[in-house]
Amino acid sequence: MSAHSSEVKVFVRTRPTACFAQDLIEYLPDKQTVNVRHRRESRKGVVNNQMSSWSFKLDGVMHNMSQEEVYQSVAHSVVLRALEGYNGTIMCFGQTGAGKTYTMTGATESYQQRGIIPRALQEVFYEVEQRVDHTFSVFLSFLEIYNETLVDLLASIKRGRAVQGGALTIVEDPGGGVSVKGLTLHPVHNEEEAFNLLFEGEMNRIIGEHALNKNSSRSHCIFTIHIESRSRTLSDAPYVTSKLNLVDLAGSERLSKTGSEGQVQREALYINRSLSFLEQAIIALTDRRREHVPFRQSKLTHSLKDSLGGNCNTVLVANIYGEAAQIEETLSTLRFATRMKCVRTQPSINEHIDPALQVRRLQKEIQLLKQELSLHDTLANRAVVPNESLSDRQVDEIKSQVQRYLAGTLDEIMIVSIRQIQEMFTQFKKAVQEQEQKVKEQLSQKYSLVEKSENSIQSSTAAAAKEPVGAVGSVGEVESGFGLGLAAPSQKHTQASSPNKSKGKKIKENSRKDVAQTSGPAEGVTVNQRETDALTPNCEPEDLEAPPVDQEEHKKKIDSPPCKFEAFEDFKLGRGSEINRILKENKSVLLERMDQLHKLTQAINSCKRDIDHMSSELQLCREQRQSQGQFVGEKGEPVLEEAELILLVGLREKKDQYRQSYEELLSTKAEVRYCQHLVDQCRIRLLTEFESWYNESFLLPEEVQTIFSEGGPIRPGLIPVDKALNLEADEQEQFQRLRTELLAEGPSAVSFYNAHNRTVQRRQQANSSQS
Ligand code: ADP
Ligand code: MG
Repeated sequence: MSAHSSEVKVFVRTRPTACFAQDLIEYLPDKQTVNVRHRRESRKGVVNNQMSSWSFKLDGVMHNMSQEEVYQSVAHSVVLRALEGYNGTIMCFGQTGAGKTYTMTGATESYQQRGIIPRALQEVFYEVEQRVDHTFSVFLSFLEIYNETLVDLLASIKRGRAVQGGALTIVEDPGGGVSVKGLTLHPVHNEEEAFNLLFEGEMNRIIGEHALNKNSSRSHCIFTIHIESRSRTLSDAPYVTSKLNLVDLAGSERLSKTGSEGQVQREALYINRSLSFLEQAIIALTDRRREHVPFRQSKLTHSLKDSLGGNCNTVLVANIYGEAAQIEETLSTLRFATRMKCVRTQPSINEHIDPALQVRRLQKEIQLLKQELSLHDTLANRAVVPNESLSDRQVDEIKSQVQRYLAGTLDEIMIVSIRQIQEMFTQFKKAVQEQEQKVKEQLSQKYSLVEKSENSIQSSTAAAAKEPVGAVGSVGEVESGFGLGLAAPSQKHTQASSPNKSKGKKIKENSRKDVAQTSGPAEGVTVNQRETDALTPNCEPEDLEAPPVDQEEHKKKIDSPPCKFEAFEDFKLGRGSEINRILKENKSVLLERMDQLHKLTQAINSCKRDIDHMSSELQLCREQRQSQGQFVGEKGEPVLEEAELILLVGLREKKDQYRQSYEELLSTKAEVRYCQHLVDQCRIRLLTEFESWYNESFLLPEEVQTIFSEGGPIRPGLIPVDKALNLEADEQEQFQRLRTELLAEGPSAVSFYNAHNRTVQRRQQANSSQS
């Protein structure tokens, strides 16, 4: 389908007259230019003799031209292009009597003077006969628009088929075209049949004129030749259709000039209106900035919508009556013609593809491609690949292959066909989506839990910080110093875990890291992380992959001692499990007490605020009372207002409440301190026992162990572990100091001496039992 922009072609044709206004109208030799001179109208009584002149350049001036010449200049090419599938429109415009009907239809009684319509019909059938490689179907319709009413001038002939039944209405086709619903289309096979219809229509027009007392020059007539052409040789080639509109417009003379009355005036009104709408539509069409063109304002413009601004080859013949008396109408017609010349259309072939034909063509193409494919398979020595869509069973098989491949039980998937590859991608996509969903769920579960525990820790810390009287230990303090000699990279532990769980583990480790970041220095991160988990009942580290207890023995046998971090985890699950459990329990009690303390603090603060508020109100009442004069009782004692009394009573109650809560706060603080003490003790015991166990199990050579077991030297000033566990508060301080001293000797000093002490102690116990 080709489309290029094209201007509307505009010609001027003059009706021959003996009184041609030679001094006013001048045709230049280029046969395209008309110059018009005109004396300006006298307005408001002022006579204006000034002459004005206009020059109109058009596509051709047809002066004293025969009907044949006019046809050749105006219509010939449009008709030929209509046979190729382009729509065409030829319109005659001008005042009544200027020769529009003569140009369009001609004299029906004279063959020589026949107009464009009969000549076009002749040419169409001549071409139909010449173009033997195509079959043509030709239909005719004849529409009259009279006083905004659509009339089918060929309705009297029964042979035609209507474009849908019912009253005549203009409808817009989805492709942008316009058709008249209800208008009959008459098939014609030769020019004679076509002439019959043309004359029948003309006759109906004249009969209507008499019966309704209407004037033929006051109606617009659209004679349309509908052409459909199909290739005889290419059965699956697209077919083309076109419409050739031959339009005889009503007279364009102005109302004032005709002096019409009654019905004639009404007719003239309709004509003027529709022509003025035609002019408006054309002005809008020439203005490229305008998006809307008012085609629907009149039946004429609406029915010509696709002929004026559409995909049509459009030609206008401006008929003028070159007498001096008609000079104003001539000027107005030429102005309209010039405007029309600026309208651009986009002529394009109306190609259609028969859907059934297209299906057949595509089927044939698929068949050919399949053959081509199997030929390639044969040449490449490949098994013939099925091209049909996959069955449910095949899809299931691909799904299972993909799952096995992802699980690692299938090494590779054989590529069989494009369809199989596509299905494989679909299954991979599904697997990824499912995995994403799972991870998302795990993540949201984990994050909400971690945040919760984090919040609870923070709120406890905040509560403790806000306490009004004397700070008690916070969780932060509880954690401090707990990383003693145990900092091991958390990643190492992660690496030690099984690969299958690696993804979930990473997330959990990350979340733990978040907690660690809020809880203290990096040095103690690892242990703090562990302990934070322990503090959070829901975050029990089921994923820490602690080695089972039965591995303890195995570990002892290895030459190099295990990392302390891992050993500590093992210890907590094995030998130290009891003390670890007690530590956890103590911690949870501590947390609970701290929470209680926090709530109490809040309650006291709120109570304090109430007391302050009531006191200030009371003060205000007192001041008011004093300023207004003091009421006194019989004995001279001051009398209080009711509001003041209520405030006083309330204040007293609040103060009582405050005192009570404060006492409670003090006792809870004591409890917190005690719990914290217990937690600290448990922690020390866990650590010291771990150190002893570690040394015993991995570090001390057998002979050293034996020496110690036989009663080696005890470092002076060292307090045995078990004793340390029973120390009172002041002794605890001393113990801590000693431990710090030992640490200064070297990282293994504490462990060493602990082990030593333990051995000594065991010996002592054995001795005492023997004795
Ligand atoms: P319109 O349709 O514009 O009202 P017509 O076509 O009816 O005008 O013409 C009015 C009269 O002028 C008719 O009798 C017609 O035969 C005659 N006439 C118009 N143009 C020509 C022409 N070019 N040559 C000969 N006669 C003409
Ligand atoms: Mg006419």
